[in-house]
Amino acid sequence: MATQTPTLIRQHPDGIEMVNARGEERGYVEPKRANGQPVLEDLWVMQGSLCDLKCTHCYTASSPTNNRLEQITFAELRPHLDEAARFGVQKIYFTGGEVFVNEDVLRGRAQRNEEFVQSLRYALEIAPVEILTNARHYIRNHFDVLRELRQRHGDRLRLRITLESPQAEEHDAIRGKGTFAQTVETIAQLSAMGFVPVITAERPFLTQQSDEDIRAVYQELFRAKGIQVEVNLIENVLEMGHQLVQLRKQGKQPTPEVFITTNCFSLLNKPAESLMCHYSRCLQKLEGALRYYPCPVIYDDARFELGRTLEESFRRVYIAHKNCYDYCLKGRGATCRTRPL
Ligand code: SF4
Ligand code: SF4
Repeated sequence: MATQTPTLIRQHPDGIEMVNARGEERGYVEPKRANGQPVLEDLWVMQGSLCDLKCTHCYTASSPTNNRLEQITFAELRPHLDEAARFGVQKIYFTGGEVFVNEDVLRGRAQRNEEFVQSLRYALEIAPVEILTNARHYIRNHFDVLRELRQRHGDRLRLRITLESPQAEEHDAIRGKGTFAQTVETIAQLSAMGFVPVITAERPFLTQQSDEDIRAVYQELFRAKGIQVEVNLIENVLEMGHQLVQLRKQGKQPTPEVFITTNCFSLLNKPAESLMCHYSRCLQKLEGALRYYPCPVIYDDARFELGRTLEESFRRVYIAHKNCYDYCLKGRGATCRTRPL
């Protein structure tokens, strides 16, 4: 009598399933190379998950009490910025949480996040920098520094600010009462310093759906105040962090994970080279150590850690996180890079 051989699921040592039930291989992305050497275009620094807000959809679950992603000091970051320079970094992004707060700023014991300020100054000497901020309140404690850096570096320093909607009540329903007015006021103050802020919106939360309508409604909001802005659109939101809580409250289940095969890049018309994990790396501090991840969409998941140095991180990335499809490959696809409308 023939015995049945059990099906073996082939697993990557990091715990990633390498083959699906149909026997198709897991898709992967190789790091970008030039002249046989790896090169880095974008370095992301996740400065910490502490934030003065607790937005209903925040995928990092940031809040005034979340320290899971720890604050990165200048002394810790500096060697990584130097290494990024050696690999030709073209842009450095700082994100959080809210980069302008740390525990001392949030609790009123300090005016400024001095560690971040030092990191920012140093990064700007290496490459253009973009800061992602909620621009609600704590950025204002840093206006002197921003004014000075604007004078020294001009458009090499950009500020990216999310407005969930051009309507105050829709924005406040996600970010908190009064936040729309505070953020719009900050944008006006930054504009008076010479910055052209990049306003980011997320299509799933907007009433307007065509690119033209979205750009027009935001530009109109600011044109009336004599303020010039760029509009950046994020196509997909993540079912992670606070957004998972929202789904539960609405009685909804998260969507099932989509298994990305080697064929999906062409089927979905998203070449591997177009994905952030090809040309970016992201630094996160967890449990006291700085760790490299492929992108800021995935955090705090040991299966996706790429090492403790940038050089070590230039490894193949298996497209095996739920967010890979949900954020990067679904529909028109999203990127954390600024892609002005
Ligand atoms: S979405 Fe941004 S501003 Fe809102 S809680 Fe998260 S990090 Fe803070
Ligand atoms: S989330 Fe996107 S950029 Fe990050 S590893 Fe997955 S496919 Fe690559």
